[in-house]
Amino acid sequence: RGITRPRMAVRSSALSAVPILTSLQKNCATPLPVLRHVADAMAADMRAGLAVDGGSDLKMILSYVNSLPTGNEKGLFYALDLGGTNFRVLRVQLGGKDQRVVDTEFEQVSIPQKLMFGTSEELFDFISSGLASFAKKESGKFQLAHGRKREIGFTFSFPVKQTSIDSGILIKWTKGFAVSGTAGKDVVACLNEAMERQGLDMQVSALVNDTVGTLAGARYWDDDVMVAVILGTGTNACYVERMDAIPKLRSHMSASGRTIINTEWGAFSNGLPLTEFDRDMDVASINPGEQIFEKTISGMYLGEIVRRVLLKMAEAGALFGESVPEKFSTPFILRTPHLCAMQLDNSDDLEAVGSILSDVVGVRSDLCARKIVLEVCDTIVKRGGRLAGAGIVGILQKMEQDSKGIIFGKRTVVAMDGGLYENYPQYRRYLQDAVTELLGSEISKSVIIEHSKDGSGIGAALLAAANSNYAHEF
Ligand code: BGC
Ligand code: MG
Repeated sequence: RGITRPRMAVRSSALSAVPILTSLQKNCATPLPVLRHVADAMAADMRAGLAVDGGSDLKMILSYVNSLPTGNEKGLFYALDLGGTNFRVLRVQLGGKDQRVVDTEFEQVSIPQKLMFGTSEELFDFISSGLASFAKKESGKFQLAHGRKREIGFTFSFPVKQTSIDSGILIKWTKGFAVSGTAGKDVVACLNEAMERQGLDMQVSALVNDTVGTLAGARYWDDDVMVAVILGTGTNACYVERMDAIPKLRSHMSASGRTIINTEWGAFSNGLPLTEFDRDMDVASINPGEQIFEKTISGMYLGEIVRRVLLKMAEAGALFGESVPEKFSTPFILRTPHLCAMQLDNSDDLEAVGSILSDVVGVRSDLCARKIVLEVCDTIVKRGGRLAGAGIVGILQKMEQDSKGIIFGKRTVVAMDGGLYENYPQYRRYLQDAVTELLGSEISKSVIIEHSKDGSGIGAALLAAANSNYAHEF
C-alpha cells in the first residue's frame, strides 16, 4: 500500500501539485496499526459512554427498544423518516409470521435547503403536511383495525436523548442542519403540535434513530443481525447490548434482557489521521469541533475535503491553468456523487473526469491534472472507507469481549444503509478490506456486512407495532 505517483506528461504544469499529493497520501494513510488503534479506541469510548452519561465522545444513547421484531407484528402502520437529505413517508400492512409485509407504499421528497436553516415550526409543518397528503391517498387495500388511530414509527436521524420509546429531546443538529428552536425540545411533541395544526389525528408510537430502524428492519428477516450502520450524508451505528453491560442504567431500571444502544459514533474523534484540510473544513463548519468521525468518513464531507485539497493545488501551482474560477471556492460545490462518478471513469483520456471538473468547479484540465484529481479522490475515499471499517470492528470487538463467542464464534450480520454505502463501490470495498485485515480472513468469514436497503422505514413501523398503544389487544 505504498504511495503511488501518478504517471504524467513531463511538462504539465500540474506537476507542481505532486508534493501536495504526496503529503496528503502520507497524512491520510491507514495502515493496519492505525486501524487497530481506531478500533480499540472505539471500543474503549463505547465502554466509557456506557459507564456514565458524558463519559466519552460517544453518547451511547438508550433506545428504549427492549424487544426486537419477531415477525408476529400485525396491522397497518405508518413510518416517517427525516434524514439528512430526504424525507420519506411510508405505510405498511403487516401480516404476521407467515405473511410478513403484505403491502407497502412510500413517497420521498428531498428536504428543501431553506428548511434546514428555518424554524422548528416550519420544518415540522413540512413533515406533517407531507404525512397528511400521503395519508389521504390510503386505499382500501390497507386495513386499520376498528376503533384505532393510525400509529407512526418516527425515524429521526439526529442525536436525541430518548426519554421513553415514544419521546426524546434533540441534543443537537448535525449534517448541516441549523433549525432554530428545536434543541432541548421533545421532537415528538413538536411533531404532535404540527399534526394538530394540520388537523391530522395520528399518533407516534415509536421514536427511533435511523440506525435503530435499520437494525429492527434487518432483524425482522434475519436473527443474526447485531449491528446496524448508516453511511449516508451523516454516519452512525447502533448494536444489540446486554442490559447488565450498561452501568449507567443500573440506577433506574432493572438490568435484564437486551436493548439497542445508539452509539452516535459520528462524534468519535480518537486517533484519526487528520490533515490541514479536515481542520480547515471543521473550523468553517456550522458545528466546529463536533462530529469529527462523521466529517472524516461520511457522504456530506468527502467531496468538500477533496475540493479543499484541489483548491490548494490549483493555487499553489496552476494545476488547472493560471486563474482559479470563483466557483471553485464555493464550499460543498463538489459533492461525493461527483467523486464517485469521476472514479468510475476508466476511459484513456478521463473524459468524464474532465467534464465534471469543468461543469462543477469551472476548470479545464489536461490528462495529468485529471490523474492527480483521481488520486486525491481515492486518498480521501480510501481513508473514509477504511476508518468506517475500523469503527465496525471496534463495535464487534467490544461485544465479543463482553460475551466470548457470541460474535466471532458464529454468523454475525452488520446491516448497512445510506447513500454513500449504497452508491460508492470503491468506498464499500475499502471498508470491507479494512474489516478483513483487522479480523483476519478466518473470523471475517462469519461477519457478514450486508446492505439492508431502506430497512429503517419498515423497521420504524415494526417498532411502532411492537410498542402499539393497542398492543394488549393482540
Ligand atoms: C446523526 C445520527 C444519524 C446519522 C445518520 C448523524 O449526523 O447524528 O443520529 O444516525 O447522522 O443519519
Ligand atoms: Mg436516512
